[in-house]
Amino acid sequence: KCRTVDGDWVYTARRADTQGSGKHIDSQTGSEGDFLHRTGGVMGAGGSWPRNPLELKDIFIAVKTTRKYHKSRLDLLFQTWVSKAKEQTFIFTDGEDQELRRRAGANVINTNCSAAHTRQALCCKMSVEYDKFIESQRKWFCHMDDDNYVIVPSLLKLLSSYHHTQDVYLGRPSLDHPIEAAERVKSDGSVSVKFWFATGGAGFCISRGLALKMSPWASLGNFISTAEKIRLPDDCTMGYIIEALLEVTLTHTHLFHSHLENLQRLPTDTVLEQVTLSYGGFENRRNVISIGGAFSLVEDPSRFKTVHCLLYPETDWCPSMGHH
Ligand code: UDP
Ligand code: MN
Repeated sequence: KCRTVDGDWVYTARRADTQGSGKHIDSQTGSEGDFLHRTGGVMGAGGSWPRNPLELKDIFIAVKTTRKYHKSRLDLLFQTWVSKAKEQTFIFTDGEDQELRRRAGANVINTNCSAAHTRQALCCKMSVEYDKFIESQRKWFCHMDDDNYVIVPSLLKLLSSYHHTQDVYLGRPSLDHPIEAAERVKSDGSVSVKFWFATGGAGFCISRGLALKMSPWASLGNFISTAEKIRLPDDCTMGYIIEALLEVTLTHTHLFHSHLENLQRLPTDTVLEQVTLSYGGFENRRNVISIGGAFSLVEDPSRFKTVHCLLYPETDWCPSMGHH
């Protein structure tokens, strides 16, 4: 998925994401056994690497947001999954907000990036996310949008099957083919490169080992200039740096979800095994996962509260079911 309508392939991306026919990446949902289509090389889930006990504190979760969504989107996240990963979730926004500051303290990062939905502004946020992650010394960087629900235990389980010192780039491709862009970093733009990228709206994760190698093109403002050179949005620029410049392959997973796919098609009985969920456009054409439970569609249009109560039924605002 590409956020800035900048060229032809963006249109292709939208079409591949929203059309439901044919051999389509989004039609597969996958359980842990089949999220690996192509692995980044040496190892993957169930590989020979010993399962290292990964802890929640090893993960840096960045949530990208903007001032106008603090109430309408972030509140719901704090009420639900963020409450299960308070210390490791960092909010990257563009405007001071007393209430948010009281709620999340130092975990709110005011990027001072512009609040516009432009490539520059979004890349500016990604660049700050990257720098803060490097500073944090944590093992994994996971980027999320503010319309993502993170199923924290699934995320831990998924990342536990990799090693943070290896080169790992995990996410959902939004196209069923790699994108092509003019190569303007290593050469003069007369040749093109093809690469996969993880769609930002579904969330993606990068190991520290890989993140450190990205530094020449990603740290301290370099991310913004890299994105400007290839004229691509933030998530595509990540893919460009990793796949095209570092020659590390994206590990395709179907456990991450954005609202560019048809979320109703996600089988209800697999919802709690996914790593990320999303919702889209419930004003007009609702695109939400289909799951029943504690709340009606009116009470819980995104379905995030319903999912949360299925995962954590003891939560004080969840109705107590099955207690007589
Ligand atoms: N966003 C932002 N600045 C803006 C608009 C959106 O940082 O001016 C963030 C928003 O908070 C979300 C992500 O960008 O995390 C994607 O925005 P949205 O879901 O509105 O659009 P999409 O690209 O998913 O259709
Ligand atoms: Mn969105």
